[in-house]
Amino acid sequence: MRKQIVAGNWKMNNDLSQTESLISELTNKKQTSNAEVMIAPTFTNLYKAFEALRETSIEVIAQNMHFAENGAYTGEISASMLKSVGVNTVILGHSERREYFNETDELLAKKVDAALENQMRIIFCFGEVLADRKSGNQEKVVESQIKNALFHLDAAAFKNIVLAYEPVWAIGTGETASPEQAQDMHAFIRKTLANKYGKDVANNMSILYGGSVKPNNAKEIFSKPDVDGGLIGGAALNADDFFAIVNAF
Ligand code: PEP
Repeated sequence: MRKQIVAGNWKMNNDLSQTESLISELTNKKQTSNAEVMIAPTFTNLYKAFEALRETSIEVIAQNMHFAENGAYTGEISASMLKSVGVNTVILGHSERREYFNETDELLAKKVDAALENQMRIIFCFGEVLADRKSGNQEKVVESQIKNALFHLDAAAFKNIVLAYEPVWAIGTGETASPEQAQDMHAFIRKTLANKYGKDVANNMSILYGGSVKPNNAKEIFSKPDVDGGLIGGAALNADDFFAIVNAF
C-alpha cells in the first residue's frame, strides 16, 4: 500500500509566536484519515515546532537545505543541522526555489544525494510552467526534471523519496489542475518510473499533487487512483482548512 501524505509548506510565513499558535490549533484537530501529516515551518522555528509536536503524529519537515555538510556557505543550512533539531524530511526542488534562487536540476541532484547520504527522506517537487502546458510539452518537461535530478540513483534510494507534481501555473494562483489533468500526469510519472526502475518502485511511490489544493477540491483530487496526497501552500496556514484537506481522503 502506498502512503497517503498531506504536507503543509508554510513558506516564509509565521514568526515564532504565530508558529506556536498555529501548532496549538493543529494539535486540537481530530484526524479521521490515515494520511501522514507533515508541516514545514521556516528554519528558525523548526526546533520549536519539533518540540511542540514531538508527542504527536505530525512530522516537522524542512523547506530546503544545502548540499554541503558544512563550511563557507553563508546563510545556508545542512542536512546534519536539520537532523540535529529533529528534522528527517526535506522538501527539495520547489518551484519557488527553482525560479527565485536559480536552483537547477544539476544542483538539485547534489541536494538529493546529500539528503540521502544523511538518511533523510525527500519530498521532491517538479512541474511545468504555463507555457509548457499551453504548448503541450508538460510531459517532456516533467520527465526531464525527474530524470536529471533522480535517475542517477539506484532503485533502493526511492524508498526515501516522495514525488510532488506541482504545475507552476497552479501554485498560489487559485487555479488548480483539474483532477483529470492531475491523474493523467501522475499516471505518466508512474509509467516513467516503471520504465526505468520497474513496477515495484513505481507502484510503491507516493506521488503528491500541489497547486491550490483547498478544502473544496481536495476530495476530488485525492480520489484519483494515482494521486497519493498533496503538498499544500496557502491552505496550510489555516488549521481548519489544513485539517479539512488532511481528512479529505
Ligand atoms: C506550494 O507552494 O507547494 C503550493 C502548492 O502552494 P498553494 O497550495 O498555495 O498553491
